[in-house]
Amino acid sequence: MENNQKKVIVSLKDIFVRFDGEVILNHINLDIHEKEFVTILGPSGCGKTTTLRIIGGFVEPESGDVIFDGSKINGTPPNKRNVNTVFQKYSLFPHLNVFDNVAFGLKLKKLPKAEIKKKVTKMLATVDLKGYEKRPVTKLSGGQQQRVAIARALVCDPDVILLDEPLGALDLKLRKSMQIELKEIQRQTEKTFIYVTHDQEEALTMSDTVVVMNNGVIEQVGTPEDIYNEPVNAFVADFIGEANILNGTMIDDCRIRILGKELECVDKGFGRNTPVDVVIRPEDIIITPPEKGQLTGIVESTTFKGVHYEMSIRCGKCEIIVQSTRSAEIGSEVGMCVVPFNIQIMNKLLPFYDNIIETEVSYADESSNTFEFELEGETVTVENRYYPQGTKLKITLPPDALSLAGDGNGDLTDVYIESVVYKGEHNEIILESDERKWLMLSDVDEQVATYVPLNFDFDKAKFEVLQDAEG
Ligand code: ATP
Repeated sequence: MENNQKKVIVSLKDIFVRFDGEVILNHINLDIHEKEFVTILGPSGCGKTTTLRIIGGFVEPESGDVIFDGSKINGTPPNKRNVNTVFQKYSLFPHLNVFDNVAFGLKLKKLPKAEIKKKVTKMLATVDLKGYEKRPVTKLSGGQQQRVAIARALVCDPDVILLDEPLGALDLKLRKSMQIELKEIQRQTEKTFIYVTHDQEEALTMSDTVVVMNNGVIEQVGTPEDIYNEPVNAFVADFIGEANILNGTMIDDCRIRILGKELECVDKGFGRNTPVDVVIRPEDIIITPPEKGQLTGIVESTTFKGVHYEMSIRCGKCEIIVQSTRSAEIGSEVGMCVVPFNIQIMNKLLPFYDNIIETEVSYADESSNTFEFELEGETVTVENRYYPQGTKLKITLPPDALSLAGDGNGDLTDVYIESVVYKGEHNEIILESDERKWLMLSDVDEQVATYVPLNFDFDKAKFEVLQDAEG
């Protein structure tokens, strides 16, 4: 709500970027408000840095507009934009001391010496480096060097500061204290900070607004609380914090079925008997005696985590993670309750569950009981089955008929792993090939944003003849 009153300082309109034929940013739209700490969060390779570079002017979009304070700035070189960038490798000048590093941009602008001194001194105080003016930057710690880089970006007084994983090179403890300092610097200076990270905790700690990206698109924009409490889909829920993500069926408004049990929830408008994804955070599950639980399960493991115990509880084929201040004995049966408000219902990432190919037999050999068809420019061979050449077929592949080929010889050679979401039983993996998306089940944690060969197990497939071969 507060955002409605703040002015939009940077606006990305329908930005489309391709590198080497690959779509990197797929028509993204984003408004960034002044004086906000905005974090672009997402897995490696999802397009975060490219988004930042579009704003900074280091990459030009193939189509779409970059608007800065109401004016289109496509084509304006980086040094003419009212933004400054802090990179992960701070790129300080090693032969200059702290003062001269920070003063560099102001000297280029040919500001009077006295003014430079005033501005640099003030900025060094803001980043808590007062008294370090004469120190060679090579004699500073990682955290101090990072603060010099931030002071150097801020001293020229740009409206917007772009920060590309600036704390990535620091150890965990230093990173945590720098996160708080950075937020404080942003608050004091009232600049817009646009910060890129793949660390969800970092994003939740520092930001006013979090932009969650995946595979070249923006999945959700919201406050850290919104993103955590009301994820729009299983990808966001899985990426932000710990979550139990389960397959469920929305029976009707406010009624959901999960793990064979009907529970009350607060969501409406999904229709009747609609397959949905259901998110329950581990801290929202209350352990009860078995007879009082909405769900029951057997405790498989329990680990003390300082503030709470983390338990893994088996409900049939599914594993549920629960955080509780009280532990339960391994092997014992427990009940679990969730208040309706804490059950989040989301549309499934893919509207379909089976993978369907409609195709025509391109070659058939009755003697060896095989046939072939063309799929996205590749020839796929099906063994132990025969249909005459020219037969039109519908092939339905359940998600467990897909696997990633380790030897590089897949039925499709290059398929992109778009998302991996653990559903308590196995990973649901969404793959993207040239013309379609695929749903695969796997027990292996596959690496998102990589290309892999894909194999089909046609023994698990269902074949329907749509039209017999002519003649
Ligand atoms: P990371 O967290 O790993 O830095 P990211 O989300 O910031 O990832 P980008 O750096 O925006 O991702 O890259 C998105 C995709 O674009 C990646 O697959 C990357 O290999 C590719 N890419 C980035 N820059 C170029 C370039 N100049 N030429 C070709 N491909 C590029």
